[in-house]
Amino acid sequence: MQARSAEIAIIGAGPAGAHLASRLAAEGRDVALFDPKGAWEKPCGGGVPTRAIREFAFILESSSYPRKLVHQITMISPLERRVTLTLDRPFAVYSRQVLNSLVLDRAIEAGANFIREGVSSFSRETGGWSLFTDAGNQWRARFLVGADGAASFTRRRLIGIFPKRDLALAFGYNITNQENGSNGDNGAHDCGPSTDEVVVRFPKEFTGYLWAFPRPGVVNFGVASKLGERTSDELRTLLNNFVSGFYGGRMPDSGRVSFFGAKIPTLDLASWKDLQTTGEGWVLIGDAAGFADPITGEGIYYAFKSADLFADALRDAQTSNGSSSTHQAAAASYKTLWRDAFGRDLEHASFRLPHFYHGRFFGRIFTDAMIMLARRHRGVRTILGRALVGEQSYVTLKRDLLRRAWQVF
Ligand SMILES: Cc1cc2nc3c(=O)[nH]c(=O)nc-3n(C[C@H](O)[C@H](O)[C@H](O)COP(=O)(O)OP(=O)(O)OC[C@H]3O[C@@H](n4cnc5c(N)ncnc54)[C@H](O)[C@@H]3O)c2cc1C
Repeated sequence: MQARSAEIAIIGAGPAGAHLASRLAAEGRDVALFDPKGAWEKPCGGGVPTRAIREFAFILESSSYPRKLVHQITMISPLERRVTLTLDRPFAVYSRQVLNSLVLDRAIEAGANFIREGVSSFSRETGGWSLFTDAGNQWRARFLVGADGAASFTRRRLIGIFPKRDLALAFGYNITNQENGSNGDNGAHDCGPSTDEVVVRFPKEFTGYLWAFPRPGVVNFGVASKLGERTSDELRTLLNNFVSGFYGGRMPDSGRVSFFGAKIPTLDLASWKDLQTTGEGWVLIGDAAGFADPITGEGIYYAFKSADLFADALRDAQTSNGSSSTHQAAAASYKTLWRDAFGRDLEHASFRLPHFYHGRFFGRIFTDAMIMLARRHRGVRTILGRALVGEQSYVTLKRDLLRRAWQVF
């Protein structure tokens, strides 16, 4: 069998891999993009933060990919205090199948070679890599990109899987809306959002949160918590109670409900310092690299951004030395680029995480205090809204909240 070849092999066609393929193909590179599933309903809330739709304007450009624009978020504290924030700039909620199609279609249009096969093994050979797919096909590539998500096979083969302390466990349901447009059976829901509103609930003594995200025709419900902190049964019970609260105290008919579960990288503070994302002939991007917000679990922005940074690094390395053997130089500058662009902020989020979920602020549970202050002060509401849509730096979050809090007391 004759091996096919590409300059760069990208394993995984989620937002990270497909966006990178699209950038590289548009710049004239020979890219092979592998994914056995193509565009699929990956377990996810599908919330695309404001910062992502601002920096990657193409996401909202085409109206053929339906999404919901969200202008309001209701937060519920562990002590049942509530606040509803109206966002200056909305964020978008997509079905993941739709979002992944949007990005994959762009990559194919730009000229990337999409191979609907999984990569089942790879090994080094002179001048690059040899890859085998689960369909029994062989490929050769000079450079390898791992964009295959939190359970990354590429990462496992190159440097090992994430340890338990670096992961969160998430469960959820996608629940289709009834045709009459109401959210629940009989249209009843005791604390539910309108179909345009996001709800976030912080349970007591819990490192994580519950959410309800409206999508076109569907509400996505979920719960995420540090892996190992709660059993799967405990998480499912919390989730079921949360969901049934929206539907008059009982779960909707099973025909409308589909369950999902998956892990999210939420790196421990100690893991950031030596986080390895590149090596001889390879880089990792997106979840495979560990790039998700440790407090919120939000990773779609970092998937796009890390892909973009590696594409920039490759373009600049090519320009500066004019040779085609620039992959290694690009990998080296990528390490600096991601740390500068978002690495330090995510590291700071890991530092803040214990305080965010378990700390105290003015003598109260931190999340309860935030919500109480937000109810009283517009400035606090603005900061919280910005934090929820990815527009507020964690490095300055505490200082900014304190400044506003003094004005309340
Ligand atoms: C329950 C849950 C809710 C979430 N909610 C949000 C949210 O609302 N907002 C947000 O920003 N983030 C959210 N996240 C995180 C978000 O889903 C990820 O950060 C994001 O999908 C990362 O994109 P990626 O392209 O790096 O990886 P992925 O989207 O995981 O894509 C990886 C791709 O690699 C493919 N693949 C895997 N193995 C192979 C192989 N061997 N060969 C070829 N292909 C392979 C897979 O099929 C997949 O398509 C959530 C995560 C979970 C689990």
